[in-house]
Amino acid sequence: MDKIYFDNAATTYVRPEVLDIMLPFFSERYGNPSSIYEIARDSKKALEHAREQVAKALGAQPEEIFFTGSGTEADNWAIRGIADLYKNRGNHIITSSIEHHAVLHTCQYLDKNGFETTYLPVDGDGLISLEDLEKAIRPSTTLITIMTANNEIGTLQPVKEIGEIARKRGIAFHTDAVQAVGHVPIDVKAMNIDLLSLSAHKLYGPKGVGVLFVKKGVPLKPLIFGGGQERNRRAGTENVAGIVALGAAIELASGELGEESARLSKIRDKIIDGILSSIPHTRLNGSREKRLPNNVNISFQFIEGESLLLLLDMKGIYASSGSACTSGSLDPSHVLLAIGLPHETAHGSLRLTLGRGSTEEQADYLLQELPAIVSRLRDMSPLYEDYLKRKG
Ligand SMILES: *Cc1c(COP(=O)(O)O)cnc(C)c1O
Repeated sequence: MDKIYFDNAATTYVRPEVLDIMLPFFSERYGNPSSIYEIARDSKKALEHAREQVAKALGAQPEEIFFTGSGTEADNWAIRGIADLYKNRGNHIITSSIEHHAVLHTCQYLDKNGFETTYLPVDGDGLISLEDLEKAIRPSTTLITIMTANNEIGTLQPVKEIGEIARKRGIAFHTDAVQAVGHVPIDVKAMNIDLLSLSAHKLYGPKGVGVLFVKKGVPLKPLIFGGGQERNRRAGTENVAGIVALGAAIELASGELGEESARLSKIRDKIIDGILSSIPHTRLNGSREKRLPNNVNISFQFIEGESLLLLLDMKGIYASSGSACTSGSLDPSHVLLAIGLPHETAHGSLRLTLGRGSTEEQADYLLQELPAIVSRLRDMSPLYEDYLKRKG
């Protein structure tokens, strides 16, 4: 069997039809959109077409779309741009404890520089409480930033209701929708969103290009200074090829969204039900209902997620675990701790994120191989041995 890629939340491949569209912008169509001769005008036109494609996918206007160098940059810009702008009015930000580090580390930086952030707790499913949110609001609150969909456990927050509260109280609302756009329906108007971040490489576009949606009339300080690109709000010569690809990828994803999310939810549920019923001492992390169609996150007691990944790799299955081993540490994920998992359980977590290449057959193969891998690891586990002794 071919390799099985179950790590689409980390990144996706560039769709061949998107690659075809972007390639000429590296060669013959190389003009700088800020210049005025013909190949420059061609680039400018392509850039503006992509802006329309992104706007349409979000239910926004083209002039509300700003291209950035990544989802991370969009998050940094939204938070610092609003916090900075209103610092004389108030220094308080509200976020959740399960945000991506692009949001959390930005808030932590601001906390060290005169701002104060409330990190809302989440329940066992990873959901914030609207009541907690209301209670956290102060006269000095200028920004609420809460993600649409969590990248580890797939939980979908009540974005529309959060936006309603923010609007009523005159507070700007930003949402990191990097995992959501192209995977679940998004309508910035209906969902009361003021600012939204997305990233091309999570929806079959290339790495290194993102978007910040900024609702018309919402002021925002720039983060990057220089030339007058992006209507004087984000300097730097545009990544034309990347932006064109993002436009194409988001249009394709929107068109296929209903069908693809139904297909993936079915495979997702097959994997979740299959694992929970065939392997004891397991639990599903994240909400069963309010969940991304492509996310599976399961904890296996008594074992280490890292060893699980290694054995899965040997079987040709690529997945991800609940610890931040990539950053050189083995700290369990802040998301899994926030939903109440003990350290040991968080360490034994496995994230499988499905995508366009995922099939029922791949799910069957995973379900066929996984029980033996887990048994093998448990047989070597001192924690499991202790458990069996205690049980008698
Ligand atoms: C991937 C991701 C980001 C960062 O986007 P980049 O384009 O990789 O910088 C931010 N937030 C979430 C939820 C993500 O999954």
